[in-house]
Amino acid sequence: MPMDKKADIIIVGAGASGLTAAIQAAREGAGVLVLEHMETAGKKILSTGNGKCNFTNKKQGVAYYRGRNPAFVLPVMEQFGLEETLRFFEGLGVAPKCMRGGYYYPASGQASALRETLLMECRRLGVCIACGIGIRSIEKERGRFLFHTKQGLYEGKACILATGGKAAKKTGSDGSGVAYLTEFGHRKPVLVPALVQLQGKQGFLKELAGVRIEGRVSLLVEGEKVSEDRGEIQLTAFGVSGIPAFQVSRYASYALWEGKAVTARLDFLPELEKGQAWDMMWKRFSVYGKGKTAEEALVGLFPDKLNRSLLRECGIPMEKPAVRCSKKEVGRLAVLAQCLSVDIIGTKGFDAAQATAGGVDTREIFPETMESRLVQGLFFAGEIMDIDGMCGGYNLQWAWSSGTVAGKSAAAYVERVGNGTGNKKG
Ligand SMILES: Cc1cc2nc3c(=O)[nH]c(=O)nc-3n(C[C@H](O)[C@H](O)[C@H](O)COP(=O)(O)OP(=O)(O)OC[C@H]3O[C@@H](n4cnc5c(N)ncnc54)[C@H](O)[C@@H]3O)c2cc1C
Repeated sequence: MPMDKKADIIIVGAGASGLTAAIQAAREGAGVLVLEHMETAGKKILSTGNGKCNFTNKKQGVAYYRGRNPAFVLPVMEQFGLEETLRFFEGLGVAPKCMRGGYYYPASGQASALRETLLMECRRLGVCIACGIGIRSIEKERGRFLFHTKQGLYEGKACILATGGKAAKKTGSDGSGVAYLTEFGHRKPVLVPALVQLQGKQGFLKELAGVRIEGRVSLLVEGEKVSEDRGEIQLTAFGVSGIPAFQVSRYASYALWEGKAVTARLDFLPELEKGQAWDMMWKRFSVYGKGKTAEEALVGLFPDKLNRSLLRECGIPMEKPAVRCSKKEVGRLAVLAQCLSVDIIGTKGFDAAQATAGGVDTREIFPETMESRLVQGLFFAGEIMDIDGMCGGYNLQWAWSSGTVAGKSAAAYVERVGNGTGNKKG
């Protein structure tokens, strides 16, 4: 089908933020064209939330966002926060369902619901989405953005870069958007994996593979605690996974990139003070441990594999009668149960990551509009910026919020610099 190669606004990237920006700009009356290099639009949305799409969260606030300046999200969230997001999706037909103390999913339980409703709205508004487009370069010439692609030249009055980061390359975000930044004079960002599994060095991890246990993960860089999180820790043959590991992983990624020593400290008794942990352990061995081996004395406290590993690391023979274990031995065990150190030697990388830390320096963007401070008419949306959210729907919330602000601001810009070509379709 022949497609108009000129539009008021050209958006690069048909992901969560790009599609939202397209809808919001078209609702303001702008003619919108989206250029996507994959064969289909919105591919990553399908894999979010294990196919169920945790698209936002009841709990909001700057504390759930990270980056050089997390407060950058505030003016964006004020314009389009949780309430506006729920209303936006309800308007598209997505009934929200709140679960797990605040995580929002579509009631259908299908991530495809968000992708399909966004695409339906794009169709209704006359947004053109051109897939399979290979962009070679973008430049601004005489007030127009020129997109040199393998399929020819495209021209727009405004440009929104919504190419995402580098996480989960197979869904389309391969980091190629970074090249356009430097063409426009923006600093080249360092991108590292976030919300990703941590790779550990210790041999005991192999024995612990498969263990899932509630606990706390503290992340230390050069011996200093930089972050911690509580939740279900999942131990694997290569290292530490589960939500608490994901939440601290961006700090590990940056520190490793800088060549610093990184340690994950695992606390399997996070609700107990040190002294309480010792008392509890001593009682287990000296009172409840009568007639039991050291290994048997731990049954019922932690998963069996973890019990064996902890005893081995403390140098306590499994078969030793529990009551004959010394206070020193039991003390060592209590300490280790609250402080099992794993040297972190890497992460599982971008392919396994759910998000990217790093991106366009937010000092180079106007927070009220998402417009570049360096190039008029150039806007940003989503993960391409130096904002990454915690697990819990915050990365998508950032995509919807920044996409909305970028789309509306780009439409206003087009209106200012020259007449838009579309019709307001509310
Ligand atoms: C497995 C997985 C599960 C996740 N689950 C959740 C969740 O439940 N909740 C949550 O909040 N977040 C989740 N996320 C994170 C969330 O999906 C992203 O933060 C969000 O999709 C980012 O939106 P975006 O539009 O900025 O980028 P993307 O969704 O990555 O979209 C970028 C688009 O740009 C296109 N593109 C890239 N480069 C170019 C180029 N050079 N030319 C043309 N097109 C280009 C890509 O193909 C893609 O379509 C998950 C991520 C993954 C990988």
